[in-house]
Amino acid sequence: MSKPTCYSVKAFGTSAPSSPLGAMAIERRQPTPADVQIEILYCGVCHSDLHFARNEWGFTQYPAVPGHEIVGRVKAVGSAVTKFKAGDTVGVGCLVDSCRTCPSCRAGFEQYCDSGLMGGTYGGWDKHLNAPTLGGYSQHIVVDENYVLRIPAGLDLAATAPLLCAGITTYSPLRHWKVGPGQKVGVVGLGGLGHMAVKFARAFGAHVVLFTTSPGKVADAKRVGAHDVVVSTDEKQMAAHAGSFDFILDAVSAQHDVNAYLNLLKRDGNMTLVGAPEKPLPVASFPLLMRRRSLSGSLIGGLPETQEMLDFCGQHGITADIEMIRMDQINDAYERMLKSDVKYRFVIDMASLK
Ligand code: NAP
Ligand code: ZN
Ligand code: ZN
Repeated sequence: MSKPTCYSVKAFGTSAPSSPLGAMAIERRQPTPADVQIEILYCGVCHSDLHFARNEWGFTQYPAVPGHEIVGRVKAVGSAVTKFKAGDTVGVGCLVDSCRTCPSCRAGFEQYCDSGLMGGTYGGWDKHLNAPTLGGYSQHIVVDENYVLRIPAGLDLAATAPLLCAGITTYSPLRHWKVGPGQKVGVVGLGGLGHMAVKFARAFGAHVVLFTTSPGKVADAKRVGAHDVVVSTDEKQMAAHAGSFDFILDAVSAQHDVNAYLNLLKRDGNMTLVGAPEKPLPVASFPLLMRRRSLSGSLIGGLPETQEMLDFCGQHGITADIEMIRMDQINDAYERMLKSDVKYRFVIDMASLK
């Protein structure tokens, strides 16, 4: 593939794991026939951005530009684009490409693409530029129309941005495990993902219990939809729920004891990890053997399910609870995220990058 012509845009990124993020210029391709050129209005701040910028998962290539919760306005479209036109409000999540031919891609599970082609919005491979992809902490992004989402009318655009990762990452496993009325469902951690999980589990009709290490978040957890809140450092509160959950979604970003939560599942109950801490989590066999419990994981969501989630949010008026920041506040925002002090998603006003 010949390299398309490029243009320069302002971005915020880092050149080393220990360096703070700062202003840089990056290249975007001029739209090819299949592309949508998007002016980014808002970009959510995911804990994955921090793991990635600091190379906590070990595969970051520098310079790195994070950001995969993107809402923007279409500036221009390529000649073959049929789904979007200039002026449309659109979203881009964690994926900007995949092989499109393997069984997972054909089934709409592009996040599990079997080809090994990692089409991540950042840290993926840009086959046009033959370079790592660069994310949404930038003025523009240029994306193949098949990886662009429609934003339903009526939603606050800044509060919609986090749906593109925190939203779909929690919606998808709750749907896969058929969470609904008559079930007792736990969510571990009231952060960006956790607060969306509470909103969705509640909207799907389950009885929702939120586990937190932060006693100061109890009232907020109830406000966003939890029926009950457990402060997980209190062993008595934990023991009161032993063997009672159908499903638990674990959205914790750091080391913690998953076995304490496995013990809260019923027979045949499942706990799904969406949190991706830097280091492995020890799992004891007995909590799994007893009551035939299972532990699994889930990665973001494919394009069809992401659109379904956005449409569901449009119908039910669901968005994230956000704190808007300027681009130059990102390093402070990361430090606050590490202290579990986010209520409940930072969103960057990208106008502040101009
Ligand atoms: P976040 O907003 O920082 O929330 C994480 C929450 O975890 C905190 O608010 C806190 O909740 C809890 N927590 C933090 N440190 C803890 C500790 N040491 N022990 C127990 N609980 C702790 O992060 P996020 O953006 O929601 O992301 C959460 C994790 O999911 C990250 O690892 C991220 O990389 C990962 N992720 C995975 C996917 C996927 O596809 N699977 C997608 C996006 C993100 P409390 O204060 O309530 O305890
Ligand atoms: Zn994310
Ligand atoms: Zn594929």
